[in-house]
Amino acid sequence: MKSSAEVVIIGGGISGCATAYNLARMGCKDVVLIEKGHLASGSTGRCGAGVRSQWGLEMNCKIAKASCEILENLNEILEYDGDIEFKQGGYLLLATTEAEVEQFKKNVQLQNSLGIESRLISVEEALEIVPHLNPEGILACAFHQKDGHANPFHTTQAYADAARRLGVEIYTYTEVTGIRVKKGRIVGVITDKGEIATNKVLNAAGGWAKKIGEMAGVDLPLKPERHQILVTEPVEPIQGPMVMSFSLNIYCQQTPHGSFIMGYGDPNEKPGINQTSTWDFLIEMSRKATQILPILSNIRVVRQWAGLYTMTPDAAPIYGSAEGVEGMYLAVGFSGHGFMVGPMTGVLMAEYILGKETSLPIDKLDMGRFKRGELIQEPSVV
Ligand SMILES: Cc1cc2nc3c(=O)[nH]c(=O)nc-3n(C[C@H](O)[C@H](O)[C@H](O)COP(=O)(O)OP(=O)(O)OC[C@H]3O[C@@H](n4cnc5c(N)ncnc54)[C@H](O)[C@@H]3O)c2cc1C
Repeated sequence: MKSSAEVVIIGGGISGCATAYNLARMGCKDVVLIEKGHLASGSTGRCGAGVRSQWGLEMNCKIAKASCEILENLNEILEYDGDIEFKQGGYLLLATTEAEVEQFKKNVQLQNSLGIESRLISVEEALEIVPHLNPEGILACAFHQKDGHANPFHTTQAYADAARRLGVEIYTYTEVTGIRVKKGRIVGVITDKGEIATNKVLNAAGGWAKKIGEMAGVDLPLKPERHQILVTEPVEPIQGPMVMSFSLNIYCQQTPHGSFIMGYGDPNEKPGINQTSTWDFLIEMSRKATQILPILSNIRVVRQWAGLYTMTPDAAPIYGSAEGVEGMYLAVGFSGHGFMVGPMTGVLMAEYILGKETSLPIDKLDMGRFKRGELIQEPSVV
């Protein structure tokens, strides 16, 4: 293990790996990434891996759109041997209340002004796109063809491979157990395999980011929250887009391999690190999914699992510096949508750490917004 590095990244998910690659690409090659399990063993490898630009806030639309554009060309950009399997089958968002219809109208107007070609469509049009959709209770839909789904393992691996080729050292099955701080400044990272002297640490530890913050004396406003998900047997292609309902808290997508992946957010879930899966989820998920997509009742479930959303008080991520400790950087609190913004997290955090002007403004996503009471309220989250 190296004894020093310019930047140490904690976390080998999409955020850590994309930042490692971008730091090296921008010339900072003395970078070490530490991951306690295998790459993508945290939320990244457990996620739905849906990618959408249909957001309700300008900043989220811009970050997601830019990420989506990177994903479109990521195999080539990273010279990846495999395939990140980015399929742009669209996202069909269901509005089931008048308030949602009004919100979707505003969202579409905003998205169109930013070059995102989403549309508010009638239920009849939605049925042309997803013929097996149960139209009962749906008032209108929003649709954007360029949204889609990628393979989270391949995407993370592609970044890690490219980062390694540029000189980044990646240590898997290595756990960060402490952070050394002297006179308010980061001076090193302690792991179960040795110690690395550094003045810059990126906390990209997903559901464990609060613990990592505590190691440096930083109190991050983060709550890990279990989210469950399941996958079915593969069947012939029958559904192009991801179908999502914010009011039912549910999403369901067919992957390029033919399996359906679906999940929902249980409003009664208690915060904490819990990655066990439950029968209750299987029952409730099946009930909700077959309610809106009855055809699924003929398809068998093969596997279910759970992962962590890392929630902030306003369900928007924290990018920037930790308050009170110089040299700790944060890419945390993605609140259930960190995979899709991962490519831009990598660009923005690398620029920020290197003291460059960021390609998109991230100052409003800083840690201080919670104390200032300047919360960002994104209306379109599951
Ligand atoms: C069920 C589910 C569905 C989801 N669906 C979507 C979706 O459709 N689209 C989307 O964009 N997002 C989705 N998400 C959210 C998405 O998975 C996360 O926001 C994203 O993966 C966060 O990536 P990350 O790299 O920041 O964190 P992670 O992938 O969690 O990576 C953090 C890493 O840090 C490591 N680590 C932690 N502590 C230590 C330590 N002490 N030492 C060393 N390593 C450590 C962990 O092992 C982990 O691998 C979903 C999440 C879940 C759970």
